[in-house]
Amino acid sequence: MVVVVVTGAVLVGLLLAPLLRGLIARFAVPEGEPRCGACPLCGRAVGLLLPPSGRCPGCRGRLGAGAGTVEAVTAAVAVGVAYAADGAAVAALAWAGALGVALGFTDARVRRLPYRLTGPLLAGVVVLLTAAALAEGRPGVLLRCLLVALAVGALLEVAVQIGALGPGDSPLGFVLGGLLGWYGWWVAIGGLVAAVVLAGLWGTLRALALLVRRRPWRGLDVPVGPFLLLGALTAVLAR
Ligand SMILES: [Zn+2]
Repeated sequence: MVVVVVTGAVLVGLLLAPLLRGLIARFAVPEGEPRCGACPLCGRAVGLLLPPSGRCPGCRGRLGAGAGTVEAVTAAVAVGVAYAADGAAVAALAWAGALGVALGFTDARVRRLPYRLTGPLLAGVVVLLTAAALAEGRPGVLLRCLLVALAVGALLEVAVQIGALGPGDSPLGFVLGGLLGWYGWWVAIGGLVAAVVLAGLWGTLRALALLVRRRPWRGLDVPVGPFLLLGALTAVLAR
C-alpha cells in the first residue's frame, strides 16, 4: 500500500509540477509589478508549463523555483493528501494542496500571497466542498465550514491590522479555515497551533543561522503562508 501511494504521489508530483512552476514564475513578482509574462533574461514568453530544471527553455537562465524543489514538495503534499483524505472532501483537499504549493513557493520567494491564486483556491474549495456535502447528504456541515472560515479569517485579519501578518495571510486563513471546518473546530484550532509552532521553529533556526554566520540582524522576515498551509495539512493528517 505504501509503495502504491508513494509511486502515485511521485507521478502526481512530476505531472503537476510543470503547471505549478508556470504559476510560480508568473505570480512570484513584487507587489505592484505586473505578473511576469516573459523571461527577464532573454524575453522568451513564460509558457503554461516549465521544466523541473527551474531554468528558462530559451536561455537556460534561472527562472522560478529551484531545480527539483516544486516536484519534491508536490509529491510530498500528494502523499499527505492521499493519507489524510477519506470521503468526498478529498477533491477539495487535493485542489488546496496543488494551489497551496504554488502559493507557498510564491510567498517564500516574494512574501506575497497574490489574490490571483487565493481567488481560484477559494472558488475551488467552495464548489468542491459543496459538492462533497451534497454527495454525503449532510449539507449542514457547510455552515460549520463557513463559521470556522469567518473565525480564522477574522483572527488573522486582526494580526494583519496590527502589522504582525501580511495582507494576503487573512484570505488564505479564511479558505483554510473553511477547509478545516469540514473536519471540525478542533482540527482548525490544531491547524493554527501547528502553523504557529512550525513558523516559530523555522524563525528560531533562521535566527541561530544568522547568529552562527555573524550576519547583521535585519529582522526574521518569515513567510507565513507556507506555515499556514503546512499546519493545515498536519492537522488534517493528525486528526
Ligand atoms: Zn530566458
